[in-house]
Amino acid sequence: MKYLDEYRDGRIARALAAEIAQHCTRPWVLMEICGGQTHTIMRYGLDELLPRNIELVHGPGCPVCVTPLETIDKALDLAARPEVILVSYGDMLRVPGSHADLFTVKAQGGDIRVVYSPTEALKIARQNPDRKVVFLAIGFETTAPANAMAVWQAKNERIGNFSVLVSHVLVPPAIRSLITSPDCRVNGFIAPGHVCTVMGYQEYETLANDFRAPIVVGGFEPVDLLEAVLMLVRQLERGEARVENQYVRSVNYEGNLPAQRVVEQVFEIADQKWRGIGNIPKSGLRVREEYGDYDATRIFGLASITAEEPAECISAKVLQGLRKPTDCPAFGMRCTPHNPLGALMVSSEGACAAYYNYRRNVSPQPARTEG
Ligand code: SF4
Repeated sequence: MKYLDEYRDGRIARALAAEIAQHCTRPWVLMEICGGQTHTIMRYGLDELLPRNIELVHGPGCPVCVTPLETIDKALDLAARPEVILVSYGDMLRVPGSHADLFTVKAQGGDIRVVYSPTEALKIARQNPDRKVVFLAIGFETTAPANAMAVWQAKNERIGNFSVLVSHVLVPPAIRSLITSPDCRVNGFIAPGHVCTVMGYQEYETLANDFRAPIVVGGFEPVDLLEAVLMLVRQLERGEARVENQYVRSVNYEGNLPAQRVVEQVFEIADQKWRGIGNIPKSGLRVREEYGDYDATRIFGLASITAEEPAECISAKVLQGLRKPTDCPAFGMRCTPHNPLGALMVSSEGACAAYYNYRRNVSPQPARTEG
């Protein structure tokens, strides 16, 4: 299949790995931001193909994983209300909140429906005018345009029984937060290709300049990722810090301008809590005042719901590249994909779930120093 087979070609992958080894003279720590990229790295064993002096660490780019615990608790609260139909993507149903998950509430009689797009949630609202339909709108910049469009459409059609519970996160502020951490060990970043398809990569230039860290916009197939690593290594070895675009078949410099406009019209930038990390200033989106009638947090008075994460979860350290999932004492024991304790085990794109699925027989690594 075009645009797929050639990006999974073992011969090309091995040639790229050999070229990386040829160019690499020093140890480098590289972070792939997106959970989809982490999943590919683990699934195809790309980290094992690379020379030993390249370490891949795994960033916070799984939207299901970083959705804060309190957003899940708010969804649970809504789903238990008889007047509400809670509509969500399927992968959110088993994400644990403080005391339960949405599957549990559904089993207890909560009206929770699974959809593939916010347009379907709007349809449910039109079909059920006597119920209040809330769409759980989560994700990175990638899903924000469709969610914004649903709110815009609801307002345009005067659909009064539709609202969104929003937890949108933005990638560049997360990279800024990671790179300014005193513990940061990362030398270069692979930026998420799907996010840049929407947003372009202008914003990443400021980061590369400010922090002297190369950033390569990368795709999601094995060859994409190895090529992105090669581009990063070449820059690092030459002492350069630029933004380069490996994922040219999808990403351009400016991104999708109409999609950006609809997001800006409906949402505004706000501080955002990330599960496993904590609050990151100006790293999320919230519904603008003009669209307040479609903001479930306001309509249902949910702002006071807060939650604390389990103390034994070391997600924050994994996301900063300070620990590997296998360093966590709970990994594969008290924390598994069937019974996730922390953020990175809740979705197949989370780093801990990826290690569990592809590396769970690997012995725990000796603890690293965090200095
Ligand atoms: S294995 Fe579970 S508890 Fe440990 S860091 Fe990963 S998500 Fe957190």
